[in-house]
Amino acid sequence: MTKLFPKRLLAVAEKGLKSIPFVKKRLDKKYDSLMADLESSLKPYRDDFSAFTEIPETGRDRAEIIAEMTAMQAKEESRWRDGFVSGAVYHGDSEHIDFLNRVYALNSQSNPLHADIFPSTTKFEAEIVSMTANMMNAARASKGSSLGLDDETCGVVTSGGTESILLAMKTYRDWARDKRKITKPELIVPTTAHAAFDKAAQYFNIRLIRIPVNACFIADVAATARAITKNTIALVGSAPSFPHGVTDPIQQLSELAWQHEIGFHTDACLGGFVLPWAEKLGYAVEPFDFRLRGVTSISADTHKYGYAAKGTSVILYRGVALRHYQYYTVADWPGGMYFSPTFAGSRPGALSAACWAAMTAMGEDGYLGAAKRILETAAVIKTGIAQIPELRVMGDPLWVIAFDSDALNIYKIMDFMTKRHWNLNGLHHPSAVHIALTLRHTQPGVGERFIEDLQAAVEYVKTHPDDKGEMAPVYGMAAAMPLKGVVTDILKRYLDVLYRV
Ligand SMILES: *Cc1c(COP(=O)(O)O)cnc(C)c1O
Repeated sequence: MTKLFPKRLLAVAEKGLKSIPFVKKRLDKKYDSLMADLESSLKPYRDDFSAFTEIPETGRDRAEIIAEMTAMQAKEESRWRDGFVSGAVYHGDSEHIDFLNRVYALNSQSNPLHADIFPSTTKFEAEIVSMTANMMNAARASKGSSLGLDDETCGVVTSGGTESILLAMKTYRDWARDKRKITKPELIVPTTAHAAFDKAAQYFNIRLIRIPVNACFIADVAATARAITKNTIALVGSAPSFPHGVTDPIQQLSELAWQHEIGFHTDACLGGFVLPWAEKLGYAVEPFDFRLRGVTSISADTHKYGYAAKGTSVILYRGVALRHYQYYTVADWPGGMYFSPTFAGSRPGALSAACWAAMTAMGEDGYLGAAKRILETAAVIKTGIAQIPELRVMGDPLWVIAFDSDALNIYKIMDFMTKRHWNLNGLHHPSAVHIALTLRHTQPGVGERFIEDLQAAVEYVKTHPDDKGEMAPVYGMAAAMPLKGVVTDILKRYLDVLYRV
């Protein structure tokens, strides 16, 4: 259908259709029944725990609160602790968690907005940035910024990968407006770049140009070159990408950006704390960092493979002058001189403290050992999948492994894996599933168990063609749906359900 009707026409038709009252009514009814099905699995605590729609009249007993939370935590822990979950919890050893919790407790009142009251937090943050920058070869940075700015590597601590990316894109927008007089900014990304780039484009009025990836699921350099216009502010590559765990040709893409004197962002949210160690371990890792002269910013998530608590990431820039486009300052606010480096005002200094503690407690030897274990488990899993004739590993990944199938419905495979307690990521365009390996999967036997369950899944799906599965029909519907607005409506309603008491 999308081939017959241009996308824009479909969008107009969809808007028109939905404004017809009976169509709207029928759609609403459909959405409601879909959400009712989902609601019970999303709200498992309604029966056994007290719920509050209003602040309780008298304060509750603290011990009772702790007891309730302990019960919920116990219910939720086993799944990720035993290595059934893709990504999500990246370290998870209890001594590591206990250590981070102690650090949090020590720093729980700290707020980097008040650098004069909490100088410890700014010390931690400056050192997190410096350690990350040097891991990204800041000391060996090639000189000559494509943006005509200085070459000093710098950065800030943010609340997560998305914030790092949003900030970098806002920075390029403001730099381009100031230095290049670009008022209709465009950003070119491979289709596999993280959704955060789309979010940035939506938030900051940047036109997003998505370039389809090639047969190896990496950025198409020639097509990217053709898409550059006088309004292009930056190019993007992932090291590696979230969907398929493969790294874009960063060297070629960043060189392209350098030649056009525009920004280049390496999204190393996923790989920032793995690839440098993989390279040291002798794995084939192409340069993606400041050694490349065209790379002008890098995002790297401390709260993923940096093994910090959730809520921190680092955005790095080539050039203090570039970082200035990120900062917020106001000189005439009645509330006083005000400035903040990121989107938030007040920030949890305890999370920066825990991040600093995680990085310094891990050390280079800790990170190397962790990367080694993860990459070795990945080899077991890649070999295992390759030996299942119905499945195929997509591209040439290191430790985030996507697979698909010509013969079988891959979402039915995922549904069977869910029944065996696995929590994998469904991908689409094209249909596939991935597992992001973490330290949880390096526990003895986990890789082997994954392959055994995957073999059983293939066998089951082959022999039970009539079993439609749980998520398979949902993905099937989304894929078959030419009206994108219907799917986004459903996603918005899903979020609404999460906020129901
Ligand atoms: C996880 C991830 C992000 C965004 O990270 P959040 O911390 O979830 O905001 C961005 N890019 C890639 C490649 C990622 O894997």
